[in-house]
Order: sequence, then structure tokens, then C-alpha cells
Amino acid sequence: MSAKLIDGKKVAESIRNQVREDVIQWMDYGNRRPYLQVIQIGTDPGSTTYIGAKTKACQDVGIGTGTDRLPDTISAKELKQIVKKYNESNQIDGILVQLPLPNHLSAHDVIESIDYRKDVDGFHPMNVGRLAVDQPTFRSCTPAGIFELFKYYSIQVKSKHAVVVGASNIVGSPMAIMLSRENSTGKATTTICHKFTKDLTQHTISADILVVAAGQPNLIKGEMVKEGVVVIDVGINRVADENSDKGYKLVGDCDFESVSKKASWITPVPGGVGPMTVAMLMKNTLLAAKNSIYPENNK
Ligand code: NAD
Repeated sequence: MSAKLIDGKKVAESIRNQVREDVIQWMDYGNRRPYLQVIQIGTDPGSTTYIGAKTKACQDVGIGTGTDRLPDTISAKELKQIVKKYNESNQIDGILVQLPLPNHLSAHDVIESIDYRKDVDGFHPMNVGRLAVDQPTFRSCTPAGIFELFKYYSIQVKSKHAVVVGASNIVGSPMAIMLSRENSTGKATTTICHKFTKDLTQHTISADILVVAAGQPNLIKGEMVKEGVVVIDVGINRVADENSDKGYKLVGDCDFESVSKKASWITPVPGGVGPMTVAMLMKNTLLAAKNSIYPENNK
């Protein structure tokens, strides 16, 4: 078998087109333009790149945005005061603190300081908790984007064996929650693997749907998957490449060459999951704007 490509760029574009139309309609009703406030702490080049992509997407769909760039010496107290100011502003719908944070700041504390009704990343414990009990919420953007891909390509998840490799709070865990819920979204039998999993292949080989978010280039090889598996490669890893002007190239967590020979569907890196994450952030920001006018949606 040779895998068909899941084109995240194309699907993300269609979602952004829809958000753009919805923003126009929202403003036609007399509402203010939705606004995403980004906070960057320090000058990490990866963070700067991701914020650049999010800013561009906001401009593309007509969502207002600005980035508050703060020094990496900022104290937790000072940062929380700034977040509080944005929480209280009625001109701001979504707040995003770009991760990772400098070591002296706790991501948990910072995320919890964001008003959950403005947490468009879907990382706040209130939103993760609501996800876990099938309540309407801001769904974490990457898993939500993956479900949009399943929908677009009519990939059935219900009753399948889904294996998630990686259990982080921002990708692996919410993905596993969404796959496993029996009353909404996934309805799949779900296995979660992480760095303490003893025999990874024992699990990946039985996956009908394999989602890999470990941040380990080439972790999954062809011999670790079965024929016909659907592979969602979330990983974004920089590896040295002397043929590239930048000196590196981006690869996922799967050995594309060998895995794509056995899979039925596969996401490429780049151009698979990444664009979906940004598109879902746009969707969540518009939802936050709507929820601020119709707070009953937050109940
Ligand atoms: P993380 O470092 O927070 O978590 C990694 C997870 O993988 C952990 O649960 C860890 O236990 C597990 N893991 C690590 N090595 C493993 C191994 N050998 N076997 C099994 N499990 C292992 O990372 P994250 O923030 O979840 O990101 C994971 C990857 O996804 C990274 O490459 C990141 O850049 C990428 N990412 C992509 C998007 C996107 O939009 N495409 C979004 C977020 C993250």
C-alpha cells in the first residue's frame, strides 16, 4: 500500500475562508472586530516564528491581533498583572501566552491566570475538564484540527483502535480524551503511550489510527505499524540538512519513507497538522468573541 496524503494546508485554508466569512457577518451585525492578544516572553526564535504565523492568520481572516513582547526576566507576579489587565479588557476576546516559558515561570500558573473564557488555546484546566466531560469548550487547537482532518477526509474513528504516542497537556492528552469519549467526538478504543511505555511497537502495531506527538524524529518506523493504518504525525523537529539554505529541515516523528508505504493515509510534515492548529485558533477566537456577547454559551 502507498499512503494518500492528508493535505492540512488545503483543509486549513477552507476553515480560514469560513472564519473570514463568519467574521464579516459578525461585524455586519454591529459587533466589534474579534481580537486576539498574544504575549511573548523572551526572544525564543521558535516562538517568534509561531507568533508570526498566528499573526498572519489573524490578518488573513480579519481578526485583530497584537503581541505584547515582555523580557524573559519578568516575574510571575508582573506577568499575572498583565494577564489580569487583558482578562478585564472588553476589547480583547482571546489571550494566548506563547509557550515554552523561561524556567522561572510555571506554565500551569500562567495558564490558570488567564480567564478560561478567553483561553483560546484550550489549555486552562476549566476547558480541559469540560472537554473530559463532553461539555462545550475551547478544544485544544491541535487535537481539534486533527478531528477536522478526519471529518474532511471521511476517516472513520468510531470503534477503531486509536493509539496516541505522547501524553503532553497540549497535544497527546487532549487528543486521547477526544478520541476516547463515547458520548461525543471519537468513540474509539484508545491507548496512550509515553516515554515510560515499555514496548512501544506492541501498541503501535495494532493501531488503526496512530497519532504521534512525541517530538522525536523518526521514532515510528514502517515495521512498527500495520498495513492500512491512518497516521497523523504531529511532530515538528528540526534536523540538520546541508542542502537547505537554513542548514536544517523540518521532519515529523515518523520515518515518512517507510511508514507511508504501509499507511492508508498520512499527514506530511510540514503541511499536515501544523496549519490546522493555527486555523483552529482562529475558530476559537471567533467563538470567544461570540461567547462574550452570549455568555450562556459558557455555562
Ligand atoms: P512534549 O515534549 O511536551 O511531550 C512529548 C510527549 O512524548 C511526552 O508525553 C513524552 O512522554 C512522549 N515521548 C517522548 N519520547 C517518547 C518515546 N521515545 N516514546 C514514547 N513517547 C515518548 O511535546 P508536545 O508539546 O506534546 O509536542 C510534541 C511534538 O509535536 C513536538 O515535535 C512539537 O513541536 C509538535 N507540535 C506540533 C504542533 C502542530 O501544530 N503540528 C503543535 C504542538 C506541538
